[in-house]
Amino acid sequence: MNGTAHMAIGAGTGFIVANSFGSGPGITATLVAIGGVSGLIPDLDIDGKLSNKVTFSPKMIRAVAQIIGCLMMVYSYLEGSGKEQWLGIGYGAGMMILASFITQRRMLMITGIGVTACGWQLNETWLWLLGIFILIASFVSHRSYTHSVLGIIYYGIMAQYLESSLMIDGVFEACVIGYVSHLIADMKILPFNKRGIKLFLPLSSKEI
Ligand SMILES: [Zn+2]
Repeated sequence: MNGTAHMAIGAGTGFIVANSFGSGPGITATLVAIGGVSGLIPDLDIDGKLSNKVTFSPKMIRAVAQIIGCLMMVYSYLEGSGKEQWLGIGYGAGMMILASFITQRRMLMITGIGVTACGWQLNETWLWLLGIFILIASFVSHRSYTHSVLGIIYYGIMAQYLESSLMIDGVFEACVIGYVSHLIADMKILPFNKRGIKLFLPLSSKEI
């Protein structure tokens, strides 16, 4: 299943969550966006060689990494002082330069490190947890740990911190159900999937 389909299903689950919480229009839009993003997240493990099913194109990853680098520079300039300010600007600039010439997997790794560092600086637990998730996704093989029960549990913990940071009811549910929707859509029980997912890694590597 391609990225657009995964995102659409995730956004749909976000909409259902919003309805069940009786959210207003603004919150509904937020939950739809969170569900859509959560529906894409498990495929962060794609290494770019699966050209027919690329969820994140190298160009897109590059653009995101450059935006993060740019934000790091701006944030350090505005919030930092002295040495810290210049270090932050240096890291941000380094990330923008690196993003322009290295491979997608390495890029993902650097993005993960950048997001973790941002989360740490901003004291946002969900953000550094997400950074570590991205970092792990850049090492594991496709449809492995990010497509397992362990992945769901990790993402669920992150989602709880995100919900308490945003203070919006339903964020946790939109995240987790959006994420789970991706895994279900990748399962072998569906006739259009030739491969399944290794849901019970590391206990069993049987494809389901
Ligand atoms: Zn997938």
